[in-house]
Amino acid sequence: MQNLKNTYSELPKDFHRAINPTPVSKPKVLSLNYALANNLSIDTSDEAQLLSYFSGNAVPENASAIATAYAGHQFGNFVPQLGDGRAILIGELIDEAGKLNDIQLKGSGPTAFSRQGDGRSAIGPVIREYILSEAMHAMNVPTTRALAAISTGDDVFRETALKGGILTRVSSSLIRVGTFEFFRARQDLDNLRILADYSINRLYPAISGQKNKYLLLFNAIAEKQSILISKWMSIGFIHGVMNTDNFSISGETIDYGPCAFMESYDPDTVFSSIDRHGRYKYSNQPKIALWNLSCLAGSLLPIIDGNEDEKEEIIRESLGNFSKDLNSKINIEMTKKIGLKETRQSNELTKNLLSIMHQNGADFTLTFRSLSSAIKGNDDQFLQCFNGNQEAEGWLVEWKNLINKEKGDGETLAESLNCINPIYIPRNHMIERAIREYEEENTHSIMDEMLKVTADPYLDQKDMEDYAVPAKDDEQVTQTFCGT
Ligand code: AMP
Ligand code: MG
Repeated sequence: MQNLKNTYSELPKDFHRAINPTPVSKPKVLSLNYALANNLSIDTSDEAQLLSYFSGNAVPENASAIATAYAGHQFGNFVPQLGDGRAILIGELIDEAGKLNDIQLKGSGPTAFSRQGDGRSAIGPVIREYILSEAMHAMNVPTTRALAAISTGDDVFRETALKGGILTRVSSSLIRVGTFEFFRARQDLDNLRILADYSINRLYPAISGQKNKYLLLFNAIAEKQSILISKWMSIGFIHGVMNTDNFSISGETIDYGPCAFMESYDPDTVFSSIDRHGRYKYSNQPKIALWNLSCLAGSLLPIIDGNEDEKEEIIRESLGNFSKDLNSKINIEMTKKIGLKETRQSNELTKNLLSIMHQNGADFTLTFRSLSSAIKGNDDQFLQCFNGNQEAEGWLVEWKNLINKEKGDGETLAESLNCINPIYIPRNHMIERAIREYEEENTHSIMDEMLKVTADPYLDQKDMEDYAVPAKDDEQVTQTFCGT
């Protein structure tokens, strides 16, 4: 990693604290993402050296490793100082597109922000984040990427002793809404401006030099978030901890914790064990995104141009636009899933489908996937999702009528639907199986297979049905954990 840059560590001292990873005893590679490494021009010929970097046993020569400072609203309550308690930013690498990427180890030992925590991670959450983030990438959802998963050879102590792990993640920037809140809460407007300018230069360079650039920054972040949340909604993804410290200003999915994909469609679905009141349930995600953006707006307000009344009015308008824009993007994404352009009629049809899916507990992923077979004349897969329910049959007739009116060739439509509706998502019980395999047997064949299958989520793959079907009754995973 000769080309490491340290642009964030060159920011003023309040932005970060210098810290090197703490060495581990017997590191072993579980997975290395060669394609991503190549994209970042990382030399992969010396695996021993890569292992030492990704385990934190060595830092690249030109690294200036840091933990970054941020604050955040956790479940609605403001915490003025959080920061990277179990993550260390090694530096940044430029990818093939010329874009700067954070290279961060997660689970690599304590930092100045660890508070009571040990700065470590169990191997379970590492495997989870690796599989989930790579699957999201394959489904064209903006996300941090997984570069390496390492088992440390040391135990971490939670309720019981667990194998320790380190994930190296890659992000176009790990600046969060909480990073802005950190400086705003300290009334440190100089650093707030420095952070905003850094964010513009790095993520939204087209804005720099424009009038009222901090307002434009806010609007640009809102736009990215509306794209992100609409994608989450369209694949049944539930983040689980949409605290403002887990809400990126790059518009990437970050901080995979107790997140999961919904199987049976139910808008009230919550997996996270700590989300007792369903604040971050599936159907609340758009509202929470708005809530988080209001926190960002509040943080940026003092540096936005204009007098108090004007600024508040403009921000209120921007937030209103965000909500409208997000709703419209969700409608577009959802109607795309049934092969139609967004109109009043197709919105109505989608709403009806979701309603009968909810009543019958239909699997979100399989229901949409089976539409391509239905359009070619095989209704069975679709109807099976509803246990042969009559209403589902009625819906199919109505849908086919509209499709026939608007679209010509069924074969082409089926193909295009199969490029929109995945067959393979990282299902919770399969992730649990992959974790259990490593915990109990020290092998990772399920993880490897799952990574391979979900890398091609739209392609029907031979002998891979296990990854395409929902959990059986005795395999259901109803709760997921942060693993912190
Ligand atoms: P998260 O829920 O992962 O977004 O974490 C919230 C905060 O707790 C962040 O400041 C983390 O860095 C910190 N944290 C989580 N787990 C640990 C740990 N094991 N050791 C130290 N800090 C942690
Ligand atoms: Mg976090």
